[in-house]
Amino acid sequence: MKDKLLDYARRGQTLDIPVFDIHSHVGKWSTYDMVSLEEQVGEMDRLGIRMAAVSSMTALVGDISRGNAEVAGIVRRYPKRFIGYIHVSANYSDDMLPELERCYETACFRGIKVYQVGVNYNDPLFEPVWTFAEKHRLPILAHTWGGAGGLEGPAMRHPDLAFLMAHSGTEGKYNPYLDAIKAAPNLYIDLTYSREYVNIIRHFVEVAGADRIVWGADAPLFSMAQQLCKVLFANISDEDKEKILYRNAAKLFPSC
Ligand SMILES: [Zn+2]
Repeated sequence: MKDKLLDYARRGQTLDIPVFDIHSHVGKWSTYDMVSLEEQVGEMDRLGIRMAAVSSMTALVGDISRGNAEVAGIVRRYPKRFIGYIHVSANYSDDMLPELERCYETACFRGIKVYQVGVNYNDPLFEPVWTFAEKHRLPILAHTWGGAGGLEGPAMRHPDLAFLMAHSGTEGKYNPYLDAIKAAPNLYIDLTYSREYVNIIRHFVEVAGADRIVWGADAPLFSMAQQLCKVLFANISDEDKEKILYRNAAKLFPSC
């Protein structure tokens, strides 16, 4: 049926495709009133989000080991709903490799979330992270804002490693992301919180191809329904929506 997914959104029905959110979080952001973990899972059920790859907000604001431990606990509690990213930050560059090694041993993590904060991703300080990720086949979700942040360099040097460019299109800039996509085939556009110009998702699909685009809600910071509907209502085919909402993610995280 044409526009089947759009009809689900119009009727407010739970989607019957296995939606895979590649960029969300668990925990609390101190200045927000936020839903509980149980409400977060309930909203995933209501919308039809089968799986979410999450990193910790506690880690995001600086307590990295505690935050990663929180994610490990939640993945153990909900093994069919969440997979974890190990969070590492350039702010604590000496801790990155020991934290990766420590967390990986717990078997709760399937990817790495990298926060760069003013350091270009092409900087050699990240090289141990890329090497570790490549060795263990862990996709990289890299925080970016307004551009690829230098991810083209490591993507070209590590062709077997997938790099997801978080928040592609933010700061009113989408062309830097599309330029990056052309530089290396292992870079992906992550639509999480992307600014919504008219038909921006269609433009991303036309230039980058739906095979290079993945979706995340950035829950619980942002509404899953809102982030999902921008794809469901996008002016693209159902086949492309399915690639963005789960097929590409299923290839990146094959055993989930
Ligand atoms: Zn996020």
